[in-house]
Amino acid sequence: MRADGEQVSHLPISIDQSLIDELAAIVGADGIVSRATELKVYECDGWTVEKSSPDILVLPRSTEQVSGVLRALDGRGIAFVPRGAGTGLSGGCLPLGAPVMVCTSRMNRIIEIDYANRRVEVESGVVNLHVTNAVKPKKFFYAPDPSSQMACTIGGNVAENSGGPHTLKYGVTTNHVLGLELVLPDGEVVRLGGGYEERCGYDLVGAVVGAEGTCGIVTRATLKLMREPENHRTMLATFPDVESATRAVSAIIASGIVPGAIEMMDRMILRAVDDAFHVGFSPDAGAVLIVELDGLEIGLTDFADRVATIAREAGASDMKLARDEAERALLWKARKRAFGAVGRLAPNYCTQDGVVPRTRLPDILRVINEASVRHNLAIGNVFHAGDGNLHPIILYDEREPGQVERALAAGRDILKACVEMGGSLTGEHGIGAEKMGEMPLMFAPDDLTAMMALRRVFDPHERANPGKIIPQPGACVEVAMPHRQVPI
Ligand SMILES: Cc1cc2nc3c(=O)[nH]c(=O)nc-3n(C[C@H](O)[C@H](O)[C@H](O)COP(=O)(O)OP(=O)(O)OC[C@H]3O[C@@H](n4cnc5c(N)ncnc54)[C@H](O)[C@@H]3O)c2cc1C
Repeated sequence: MRADGEQVSHLPISIDQSLIDELAAIVGADGIVSRATELKVYECDGWTVEKSSPDILVLPRSTEQVSGVLRALDGRGIAFVPRGAGTGLSGGCLPLGAPVMVCTSRMNRIIEIDYANRRVEVESGVVNLHVTNAVKPKKFFYAPDPSSQMACTIGGNVAENSGGPHTLKYGVTTNHVLGLELVLPDGEVVRLGGGYEERCGYDLVGAVVGAEGTCGIVTRATLKLMREPENHRTMLATFPDVESATRAVSAIIASGIVPGAIEMMDRMILRAVDDAFHVGFSPDAGAVLIVELDGLEIGLTDFADRVATIAREAGASDMKLARDEAERALLWKARKRAFGAVGRLAPNYCTQDGVVPRTRLPDILRVINEASVRHNLAIGNVFHAGDGNLHPIILYDEREPGQVERALAAGRDILKACVEMGGSLTGEHGIGAEKMGEMPLMFAPDDLTAMMALRRVFDPHERANPGKIIPQPGACVEVAMPHRQVPI
């Protein structure tokens, strides 16, 4: 029987009624979901290639409740998977081997805003954009701005070390987290870091940021606040092809100018975005760059002129400056909702995430094109070009036999090339369940063993988000789909 009296038949032995009663006593009966149809909502995140529902979902409202839940699970040796908003793009909250999902969506309070010390203390389920909205009236903002910022949570951002368009100039999540409250898998609550930037001792905040929920559940974060820049210049540069656009990216950075953001969209993405938002991109455009300069008004016009000159020298056929806030907002809407617009192009898509040194962008785009031809799947590109952080979007139709496998193979080819070019397997979306098998492309067995040793300091029994990031030496990773088995 469930806490609300309804019969539950699908639960494994480990999730028996006594555990449900114990959890309900901690979070309340309305904080538990165990009906199979309702759990379907939680069967995947933004990486939809694999799906598997948890056996039970718990929705705590406080650190104390998270601690109580993890203590109860620890007592029975049950693993758990943390979840924020489920916008992750690497299958990070797929419950592989973890029957209980703990979702922070009810922990959404902004606890304290401290303008004098430029910091804010939030619960981990707070939506990213809500932080900036809360401090905007005083002309502050929270810098890491994933394109999913309207939905994703600070806890998810911390777990993935998320980035976004403006991290070119301001840095990714790890550069903006001063302190964390973390509930360890045995229920102990620890505080890492503090309220100030100067810390001594080991950087345990740095170890938890990007750990993808494998150290425990982050319940609170102390974040840095940034002063809003005095003004912006947001420009749209149109290029005949991606090669000339990426040449411009390197040339802008090499000139010494660091824009707030440099984002690129290729022809396929431009068409989808224009159909959705009517931005008015040129039909001849092979690629566009959105370049945003920010800072003191006094130097901005000069910098914008220099960027325009550099872009033209690299082959830009057209440069437009957003004339007002509405035009600027339209450009950012087009960019930030590009993934959604791609839904018009195919029944399914997966968004890859890799990095190359920015001077290798033309090379990797050639590799992506070759992968598209080899695997006979369309691939579009929209990405944080200034960081060399790519997001090839691989279109497929899961109803067609073989297309899922081809999409995964194309993704693997691209990641392998990223690593060979001196880049990385992920820029900001994490390894999750998706790329665990690719970790040996970048790390030797000793590296992976060292990572596991660090993880075990926090989670000795590997019950926090098992089956993520670090492949087990000599074992097969237990995954939902047979073609995803990853022998190491
Ligand atoms: C349209 C779209 C655009 C995106 N654009 C960007 C972008 O520009 N930049 C970028 O970096 N990402 C982007 N993403 C990816 C995604 O939004 C980020 O990874 C985000 O940080 C995930 O947050 P979430 O709350 O949805 O986390 P979830 O998807 O719920 O979880 C992500 C991971 O974090 C863990 N986790 C969640 N909460 C906690 C917690 N409190 N404690 C410990 N672990 C936790 C989960 O176990 C999982 O491993 C985009 C996604 C979409 C769908």
